[in-house]
Amino acid sequence: MANDTMRNGGDLIAAGLLSPERESEIDEVAARYAIAVTSDVAELIDRDDADDPVALQYLPTVAELDSTPEERADPIGDERWSPVKGIVHRYPDRVLLAPLHACAVYCRFCFRRETVGPGKQALTPAELRAALDYIRSHEEIWEVILTGGDPLMLSPRRLAELIAALSNIEHVAVIRIHTRVPMVAPRRVTAGLIDALATDKALWVAIHANHAKEFGPAQCAALARLTRAGIPLVGQTVLLAGVNDDAASLERLFRTMVAHRVKPYYLHHPDLARGTSHFRIDIAAGVALTQRLRGRVSGLCQPSYVLDIPGGYGKVPLTPSHAEPGEVPGRWRVRDPGGRVHAYPPDAELS
Ligand SMILES: *Cc1c(COP(=O)(O)O)cnc(C)c1O
Ligand code: SF4
Repeated sequence: MANDTMRNGGDLIAAGLLSPERESEIDEVAARYAIAVTSDVAELIDRDDADDPVALQYLPTVAELDSTPEERADPIGDERWSPVKGIVHRYPDRVLLAPLHACAVYCRFCFRRETVGPGKQALTPAELRAALDYIRSHEEIWEVILTGGDPLMLSPRRLAELIAALSNIEHVAVIRIHTRVPMVAPRRVTAGLIDALATDKALWVAIHANHAKEFGPAQCAALARLTRAGIPLVGQTVLLAGVNDDAASLERLFRTMVAHRVKPYYLHHPDLARGTSHFRIDIAAGVALTQRLRGRVSGLCQPSYVLDIPGGYGKVPLTPSHAEPGEVPGRWRVRDPGGRVHAYPPDAELS
């Protein structure tokens, strides 16, 4: 399947995705950040639309060469919370485990863009054993989140070994896999891969998708194979300027997710990764967008809009409070989806 993937400016030009005069610019970007566009993704792109929301996520641009002073190599402070290679233990009850650093595609806004790429090392067998020993020896770890890179880029055999090793740790109740594979390389979601995910633990899969247009027939079929195997799916979206920063795009995306049994979980404010400022919008604009969705789409279609505080301080919701305490204890002022304020309990005066 590797020869299905375009990995440099020349490949993208040959596929008609970039114009030839951009080759030298793109080579400059490629020297800093990995490029990969699968043929499944290329098929979704409308070559006549300069603002195609799929193309904007994967096709390199010179804007990536501009870094702003607040941007950093490790935007969410993973390093600070890494006790052994491959593990990030920031919250007491859950850890990230990154067994490899390869992805099927390389997203231009990726928060780990300086640690993922084809040249970046996966954990060696000894490092993976050490990471598993760490999880084994910390009984407070209730959930293990496989991330990377993309864990579904492991071969079914290696994935099965990893899932079996985690499943054998008594205190681990939940295994979560964060992946883009079903959306960008849906043919990798084979019966063999699904067998590799079989476990008595609760195994959840978080699907990264940013636009309804990403849900082509092959992608939807891959999601159906996962849900038919009894695997619960949640959705992860990055709020991206030009891609999905309007209420209609977000509404369509979250409805499409729910219609394919993917519960929208997080809408991430983009992290301060280098060369990504052209993707970031103001938090106030992000909050206004999420406000517009409230009341307009089903509660199932509402993710939490979250910010991962730079420096490793954790994720927090950016939702403004809909309820404020009134002057009298036990009484509240509550804002409805249309912006009108009501007293709660209702017989109380607005204070
Ligand atoms: C995002 C993240 C998690 C998972 O957080 P949830 O809010 O449970 O989805 C865990 N550890 C780290 C270091 C993270 O960045
Ligand atoms: S799939 Fe995830 S980790 Fe890989 S490049 Fe995209 S955002 Fe980064």
